[in-house]
Amino acid sequence: MFLKGKTALITGSTSGIGLGYARALAKEGANVMINGFGDRDAIDGYVAELSAASGAGALYSDADMTKPGEIRDMVADCTAQLGAPDILINNAGIQHVAPVDEFPEEKWDAVLAIILSSAFHTTKAALPAMKAKGWGRVINTGSMHSLVASPFKSAYNAAKHGLSGFTKTVALEVATQGITVNNICPGYVWTPLVENQIPDTMKTRGLTRDQVINDVLLANQPQKQFVQVEQLAALALFLCREEASAITGTNLSVDGGWTAQ
Ligand code: NAD
Repeated sequence: MFLKGKTALITGSTSGIGLGYARALAKEGANVMINGFGDRDAIDGYVAELSAASGAGALYSDADMTKPGEIRDMVADCTAQLGAPDILINNAGIQHVAPVDEFPEEKWDAVLAIILSSAFHTTKAALPAMKAKGWGRVINTGSMHSLVASPFKSAYNAAKHGLSGFTKTVALEVATQGITVNNICPGYVWTPLVENQIPDTMKTRGLTRDQVINDVLLANQPQKQFVQVEQLAALALFLCREEASAITGTNLSVDGGWTAQ
């Protein structure tokens, strides 16, 4: 349990990849604060499961990642109740699929706020304590869309490319202070976020469900398999180890070969 005594705050962790990170970190003994939306009974169940796995603290914050004040309160609550975050994972995200000239303005604003601006607000709030301890890990969940684009995802691609630039900038600012900052860039992972974009993609491109899965989602993923949540969690855990302390400011692809093309 190499993370005993450490505290992790993971945004967007009531589901999918974020919940996978939370489970992996708790298994190594970390206090964990999860965040996101969803069924309250299910979330209470995750909190109990995480605490049982770690033998440490686990809490839930319902902070909305579009609201800077709620983000600051979340970091303060985590600090007061579990300890200042030693590990911050910026993972919350949403998707909206539409041609740019039809892209709803409120969706553009929401995607940018949840993926990109929330990472700024959490990082700004969490860094001072990491600097004081001389140790920290900031892990962002980017995407292959931090590195390359696909059509009809202008907001998502802009936000994820932005997250890559933000990662590099913060990594440089804290490079001598024991804090690393990295951007994990998954290919398609089978989670509710992917499931939920299938109907819109069917409509936008006039395809069946199977065609969306095989001809759109996995078309450019050379391994022809979805990335697994556990594979991303294993990388996040490695980034928390001392052996990974020289890895900073990077985009780390876990994409079945997507960006090799
Ligand atoms: P998911 O829909 O399962 O999880 C998203 C999480 O974000 C949920 O916990 C949700 O409640 C939370 N969330 C959404 N809006 C929020 C808000 N306003 N405030 C707080 N929390 C909010 O999706 P996922 O696939 O696990 O995605 C997690 C991250 O991984 C996202 O940043 C996504 O862009 C990225 N990603 C996913 C894939 C994939 O194929 N699934 C690929 C590359 C990158």
